[in-house]
Amino acid sequence: MGDKVNELVILGSGPAGLTAALYAGRANLSPLLIEGTAPGGQLTITTEVENYPGFEHGIQGPEMMEVFRRQAERFGLRVTYGEASAVNLKEHPFELTVEGEAIKAEALIIATGATAKLLGIESEKRLMGYGVSACATCDGAFFKDKEAIVVGGGDTAMEEAYFLTRFCSKVTVVHRRKQLRASKIMQDRAQKNPKIGFIWDSVIEEIHGEPKSGVAGVALKNLVTGKSSEFKTDAVFVAIGHQPNTQIFRGQLEMDELAYLKVKPGSTYTNVDGVFAAGDVADRTYRQAVTAAGTGCMAAIDAERWLEARQN
Ligand code: NAP
Repeated sequence: MGDKVNELVILGSGPAGLTAALYAGRANLSPLLIEGTAPGGQLTITTEVENYPGFEHGIQGPEMMEVFRRQAERFGLRVTYGEASAVNLKEHPFELTVEGEAIKAEALIIATGATAKLLGIESEKRLMGYGVSACATCDGAFFKDKEAIVVGGGDTAMEEAYFLTRFCSKVTVVHRRKQLRASKIMQDRAQKNPKIGFIWDSVIEEIHGEPKSGVAGVALKNLVTGKSSEFKTDAVFVAIGHQPNTQIFRGQLEMDELAYLKVKPGSTYTNVDGVFAAGDVADRTYRQAVTAAGTGCMAAIDAERWLEARQN
């Protein structure tokens, strides 16, 4: 890749990165997209996506990302496989290290997303998308009149539990302590809902089920008594937090206390001129494919105008 300076480099290949690529490609910027370790992003670990406008009958998450990618490729997208392991945003053009090679960029769009924290057990991995999910907004509607577990004790867990009561006949929050971490108002709302129950001081040791038939139940362990028990459920929603993928930008870009990138309100401008952020990496609130795509579009337009202004 040597000394060639790319006009625009996009980091990340989820809805934000690929939408930025589509817009930048159509603006003749010939963007270079660095795919990252999870090509297609978080949607590739879901099954059906029913809430992305334009797909009337829903679409499988991985297939949707293929469609996004092919659409961007029609307009001159260049893709590099691999992950950026280091960046230097202190000098211009910016320099990124991707699989040991240096890549230079006039402008950079960061769309590296966030990763849902998971329990880390084998059965969770095996059943992800088949009854195990990290997003109630995405997958809750598949469990109409069914029973679900939500793992976690924070605001996200309360919000997910509350949201799931729209569909599920019963929602049980499994929390590893007796005190919730969630704000008082969210706790009250969940605790007053007759469809929501709580299992305290407990963790999931195993999720039972098969991809074909879905989740059947879980093995629980009470951390205080040490006792194990079985619990029947049709779904497990893991809501123990997200981690924005911002490690390589530490010390170079402004972040909030949870390490999400800060952008100027109403734009995708970060604190470094020429660096833009889109999608979940800068969004701790909405975290939807459609909002990521929306900010990806904004980032491409911001970058295009920024590049144009430099030339004049
Ligand atoms: P969080 O506040 O970090 O809570 C994570 C929860 O998951 C905690 O209860 C934690 O238990 C539990 N947990 C973590 N790792 C676990 C593991 N390996 N096994 C079992 N349980 C585990 O994360 P969050 O709920 O996603 O919230 C993140 C931020 O967004 C917070 O600042 C929150 O206020 C904000 N938020 C706000 C709203 C809202 O206001 N509407 C909605 C969502 C999120 P412990 O309590 O024991 O640590």
